[in-house]
Amino acid sequence: SAKTHGRNRFNYFTPAMQNDAQKRMLLVQELKNAILQQQFELYYQPIVELGSEDIVKVEALIRWNHPTMGFVSPADFIPIAEETGMIIEIGNWVFSQAVAQSAKWKQRFNVDIQISINKSPIQFRDDTTDVSDWLSQMAEQHVDAKNICIEITEGLLLEKEQNVEAKLLAYREAGLEVSLDDFGTGYSSLSYLRKFNIDYLKIDKSFVNNLTPDSNDLSLCEAIIVMAHKLGMKVIAEGIETEQQRNLLEFAGCDYGQGYLFSHALCSEEFENKYMQQYVAPMRLNELVSG
Ligand code: C2E
Ligand code: MG
Ligand code: MG
Ligand code: MG
Repeated sequence: SAKTHGRNRFNYFTPAMQNDAQKRMLLVQELKNAILQQQFELYYQPIVELGSEDIVKVEALIRWNHPTMGFVSPADFIPIAEETGMIIEIGNWVFSQAVAQSAKWKQRFNVDIQISINKSPIQFRDDTTDVSDWLSQMAEQHVDAKNICIEITEGLLLEKEQNVEAKLLAYREAGLEVSLDDFGTGYSSLSYLRKFNIDYLKIDKSFVNNLTPDSNDLSLCEAIIVMAHKLGMKVIAEGIETEQQRNLLEFAGCDYGQGYLFSHALCSEEFENKYMQQYVAPMRLNELVSG
């Protein structure tokens, strides 16, 4: 009956959930203004070669600094941006920003450093964002295709839509590289690795968190690394926080690493001050940090 239904609903919405719903509504409202009011900023987290700790590229990570809420985590607002479709506009902003940054680093420091950007599956499905728009933006700013890498997740590769496959192919044909992000947390349908040409496989940080000798997680990492190499892919481990994790992964043959052990994500100014002012190719994290 309506009464029972009403009572159930009353029980269903606990204060905590009500706050979640309210929080969500607030975020939807505020997201709409965020681009216009320039509340977003891209941060850059170094990805290093495990052996030398040379920086080989950076991952662009969006930061939302809201005037009253402060920093809002992408884990909180990216899913909402995806549900509401706002991710299209945000994604285009991220891309333009990364291309402009790449052009600036080339101009000011003569550095070709690849910027890896996260691309939501929603953007791949969207027809208003055309691959050629992005390619012409890069051409206009004289940014080489090899300086941009696109991070996608496993779910995208499961999509039946021809569109997704065609777009992915178009990026690769233009010379952009492609990373498979958060590997191991999605559907992990291995057959898709053979169908799509992927340059890098990123081992999700949940496998790196509890990495110890003789752990199942280490066996998994070792197996992923061997498989990726046999398929011609390089491996990046994310979420490396300790020397032990770094050493175990390096010994297992992992190519690259990303994590707080090496560096947090930094705003462009901080990144430049730390790694570019005294730039001598190739960038050596050790020397630059101590020197
Ligand atoms: P992701 O693409 O897997 O990015 C890696 C996340 O791990 C980042 O979180 C990074 O700050 C964090 N991380 C890096 N090293 C460590 C570490 O050593 N320990 C731990 N615990 N975490 C580490 P962040 O910046 O909060 O981003 C979360 C997620 O939000 C990203 O996961 C990505 O899926 C999404 N995201 C971030 N920026 C963008 C964007 O510009 N566009 C889209 N579509 N998604 C984005
Ligand atoms: Mg990523
Ligand atoms: Mg990742
Ligand atoms: Mg992740």
